[in-house]
Amino acid sequence: MKNSTKPIKFNENFKEVNGKSVETINPPIYSGSTVLFESFDDLSMANTGKYQGVCYGTDRLPTQRAFEEALRELEGAFMTRAFQSGISAISNALMAFTQSGDHILVCDNVYGPTARFCTKILSRYSIEVTYFPAAIGAEIKNYIQTNTKVIFLESPGSNTFEIQDIPAVTRIAQEHEIVTILDNTWATPLYLHPFDLGIDISIQSVTKYISGHSDLLLGTVSVNQRYAEHFEDYYRSMEIYASAQDCYLALRGLKTLHVRLKQHEQSALKIAQWLKSMPLVEQVIHPALDEHPQHDLWQRDFSGSSGLFAFTLKKEYSNQELAKFIDALQLFAIGYSWGGFKSLITAGKYRRNTDSEYTDKTIIRLNIGLEDSEDLIQDLTQGLDNLSLDNPASISID
Ligand SMILES: *Cc1c(COP(=O)(O)O)cnc(C)c1O
Repeated sequence: MKNSTKPIKFNENFKEVNGKSVETINPPIYSGSTVLFESFDDLSMANTGKYQGVCYGTDRLPTQRAFEEALRELEGAFMTRAFQSGISAISNALMAFTQSGDHILVCDNVYGPTARFCTKILSRYSIEVTYFPAAIGAEIKNYIQTNTKVIFLESPGSNTFEIQDIPAVTRIAQEHEIVTILDNTWATPLYLHPFDLGIDISIQSVTKYISGHSDLLLGTVSVNQRYAEHFEDYYRSMEIYASAQDCYLALRGLKTLHVRLKQHEQSALKIAQWLKSMPLVEQVIHPALDEHPQHDLWQRDFSGSSGLFAFTLKKEYSNQELAKFIDALQLFAIGYSWGGFKSLITAGKYRRNTDSEYTDKTIIRLNIGLEDSEDLIQDLTQGLDNLSLDNPASISID
């Protein structure tokens, strides 16, 4: 055999060494395009769609299946499928359950790129989108049209953290046979069980807490029994798949999710309470605080809170002034995304389609990482020291 052939022919995989199987705690990473058939008979079965095994790289390789199954169990779903990112999970879930001429309802505090997908892409396929107030409950019935097919919720929603009355919405949706989708990234399946509240489809940006280390992008769609067959058919037809390396890391993240989340929760609560005592701070927006407008709903439906929350300042500062606070931070880095070990800060004004108490307000959002909360408080203190409440005529202090 020629040297050019030797390495290509080589196919020992060392699943066994000296007759003993090799078992690591973590499953192997299966990545690839071609999946080999054992025989021509198997290939013939695959050609006619009757082969029961995995046919190809897009057919969900074992590492992807292992992650999907672990998450499915945690979600209490009938079926879970992985996607290349959270936003890919969201856009595909929306496409799977809509067609031209349909109308969908989307909460006003939805993740920005979700709204952009609805407005820019779904509209090209004649799918009409209506945004409803962020803290909706039974009033959802006023927004339903005869062609409404999907209600999309995100609770607490992005940046302003309003909470929807999920059971009130799903009750009405079920009467009208409308599919309900919830972006459950903030609470994770550990702190909110969407299927118990009547939700049909639960979405995770795995990028956030589940992977937990800011080193990958991944998303999941988990479906109840009623819509599983329809969604499975969609997923297959689109030939979507998720990277094996990322599924491996996400599976690893799942093992420590409960410990990390508890730490994020405690630290965030401590910092939120402390921020309330700061003279410059107007409002701390955190669902687990008594003064959160939908705190009662949070208490009823959620079993915990995570490490992402926001606050507003009594005075609206110019960007130049705000920079003196934000650029001075040593432990909080400036950047999008969240759910990882590193504390992050973002600040901005968030446009809403419906009335919002936060219109024209700068929302400062904190992702509380795994650093010691005392160190984080010290960092915020030295940053906030660079702002002042001078020019009192322009502000109101109660
Ligand atoms: C980040 C985020 C997403 C999108 O996840 P990616 O994996 O970054 O695409 C979706 N929903 C919410 C609420 C998010 O915060």
